[in-house]
Amino acid sequence: MAYTVSKLTDYSAAALERASAELLSALEQESVAVKSEADWKIFRDRWVARKNGVLTQLNDLWLKAAPKDAKREVGQRVNEIKTRVEDVVEKSEYLQLEIATGTPQASDIVDITLPGARRSIGAEHPVIRTTNEIVSVFQKLGYSVAEGPVIETDYYNFEALNFPPNHPARDTQDTLFIAGQAAKAGRERLLLRTHTSPVQIRTMETMRPPLRIVIPGTVHRNDPPDASHSPMFHQVEGLAVDTNITFGDLKGTLDHAMKALFGSSVKTHFRPSFFPFTEPSAEMFVSCFICGGSGKRGAEPCRPCKQTGWIEILGCGMVDPNVFEFVKDNGYDPKKVSGFAFGMGADRIALLKYGVDDIQLFFQGDVRFLRQWA
Ligand SMILES: [Zn+2]
Repeated sequence: MAYTVSKLTDYSAAALERASAELLSALEQESVAVKSEADWKIFRDRWVARKNGVLTQLNDLWLKAAPKDAKREVGQRVNEIKTRVEDVVEKSEYLQLEIATGTPQASDIVDITLPGARRSIGAEHPVIRTTNEIVSVFQKLGYSVAEGPVIETDYYNFEALNFPPNHPARDTQDTLFIAGQAAKAGRERLLLRTHTSPVQIRTMETMRPPLRIVIPGTVHRNDPPDASHSPMFHQVEGLAVDTNITFGDLKGTLDHAMKALFGSSVKTHFRPSFFPFTEPSAEMFVSCFICGGSGKRGAEPCRPCKQTGWIEILGCGMVDPNVFEFVKDNGYDPKKVSGFAFGMGADRIALLKYGVDDIQLFFQGDVRFLRQWA
């Protein structure tokens, strides 16, 4: 016969215990009998329906009817039962849902030797892979990785890197400024960093020489997107500061790095250039690792090196003493220390390495393109 809530005549602890044990055992038995969603709804209504559910009856027949001095204890007991009933009702609903959505039942044959459902983990993006390769070459030389904010101040992005006040790079034609800052002093105005070089200053402010850092990161310029330009791209930059660092150290380090990246047969070649933050400055070329420096691929001209046999790969130079002046108080006295810096575009190197002819492909997120690197 189905369980019904009966009035209590005895409010002693022992009697309460007996009555609630009887109720809970009925609850268990009925919950085990639930075999379908329809069963569950009946079960739920019988126990927790506001109108005449077992819990409601319990409230009326036990709690409201209890004499004043027993109310506290009966109340506690009713609350415990309520929590338990709600739990069981909820759990049995969950079991019904599992059956409904096809979770294996006892009658199914389970083949435990079948592989589980695997989630594909994706592949490294070619630009990230290239960045990591470059970074790891320098890490093996003892460089540590340094990073900094993408939203920078004019001070870190330009001023402390020895850009003169009217340098064209400071123009909105070239640089993406954050809007609404007219009221701020020039050097505090925020912009999207145009190179990773501000991290040089930020690191020198906090770490004393000797210093060897490699700086990967995204940078932004006001360039409309085309096959070789993107308003967002990736740089890897490096800085070494110590006593007696010479241009010979720069050449030796970068020559080693290029051989590690492109193969031991590549040659390097430096041409004078100009950057505000290095003096002297150079552009470094590597012998074309696609045509082996011949400028030809069979009978065809080699396009990546424009038939010259050389590919421009990075900018570099000796740190300008004016840059050290900004961090002089942290041990960078330009009379005592010297250093070199270099920076390269990871996207451009990835284009060359993987023979991709449009930089936009890197950022469009087309899985057909990206799957090639899986
Ligand atoms: Zn070539």
